[in-house]
Amino acid sequence: MIYFDNAATTAPYKEALGTYITVSEKYFYNTASIHQSGKDAAKLLEAARAQILDLMGLKTYDLVFTASATESNNIAIQSMLRRKKQFGSTILTSELEHPSIVNVLEAMKKDGFTVKYINTNEDGTVNLDHLKSLLDSDVVFVTVMALNNIIGSIQPIEEIIRMLKDYPKVHFHVDATQAIGKTDLNYNGVDTISISAHKFNGVKGIGGLFIRDLATMRPIQYGGGHEYNVRSGTVNLPGAVSMSKALRLTLGEAREVKERLSQFNEKIRTAVQDLEFIYLQPKAASYIVNMSFIGAKGEVVVNALSKRGIAVSTTSACASKLATLNETLLALNNEDKIIEGSIRISMGRHTTEDDVNKLITALREVYEELGDVLK
Ligand code: PMP
Repeated sequence: MIYFDNAATTAPYKEALGTYITVSEKYFYNTASIHQSGKDAAKLLEAARAQILDLMGLKTYDLVFTASATESNNIAIQSMLRRKKQFGSTILTSELEHPSIVNVLEAMKKDGFTVKYINTNEDGTVNLDHLKSLLDSDVVFVTVMALNNIIGSIQPIEEIIRMLKDYPKVHFHVDATQAIGKTDLNYNGVDTISISAHKFNGVKGIGGLFIRDLATMRPIQYGGGHEYNVRSGTVNLPGAVSMSKALRLTLGEAREVKERLSQFNEKIRTAVQDLEFIYLQPKAASYIVNMSFIGAKGEVVVNALSKRGIAVSTTSACASKLATLNETLLALNNEDKIIEGSIRISMGRHTTEDDVNKLITALREVYEELGDVLK
């Protein structure tokens, strides 16, 4: 199978897997144990934590290890809003967020919070003027993802940090899950930031939440008080050390990979742009191409490509506030038939020119095969 679904998950680096196995064998101890082996494990954990903070340029932050970005997003939102309720009840977010943000916010509405959505520009970025107009004295929380998982738009996080300096009551959360190694964003000034190792060629089951001021966090799950009492539960040491390895490798090759994928992105776009019933979403992050086969269903296209040995993704309907059609594409004012016929091609560090050539051939074959369905 030629893999073009790297926005869903990535293949781990051999080194990240090797680290995971070695640490699992040699340091299987509980980092909370006070015997020497536990202390050695705890030392390793702190080294991994320090390395990740350093690599992210967030040395003054704390890092809490979690199991996934979904968990990190839940902790950031639920923990903060429990504390903030006394200060106000309005939450602002983009229209492009992942379900692990949207559905948590929707649940928070039941606790009396109001969620307001920031308008989206044509290129998939948030409208900063609209954000500014929404910032009143009741706003306690703003959450905007760094890089969108459907079309790859990159949000103006640094501008939002500057804007929110005038609103000290507001907690700013960024879901950076897709952005690691893909952008040069500087997160200093963001209050909490989520990441997940399996999106940057690390192993599954380990993520992180960067926290600017630990004193503001409240646990959402109670237990033994691990991870600064923010996330109780025995820490996944092999995962944490492996994530630091994957992060170092990803950032080390980020520029080269981005340039290569940008060329592939252009090549794919050029190859289909003369086809009458194909619509291309605007180019954003280099690793994603989102295109629609107008008149067809995305899943039919995905299956037809799958039969040819190529794995892409539908721009799936996320079960969230806007029901059946993908909300990112809806926010960009796409017509229903463009949303229904859309597929997401997401490349990664392993993608080769030969893979891209095979993809292009298959896309054109499927286009021919669909014939009159397209209109
Ligand atoms: N946020 C974004 C933007 C994502 O793309 C994803 C994964 N699809 C997540 C959060 C959730 O990540 P995880 O699988 O680590 O829970």
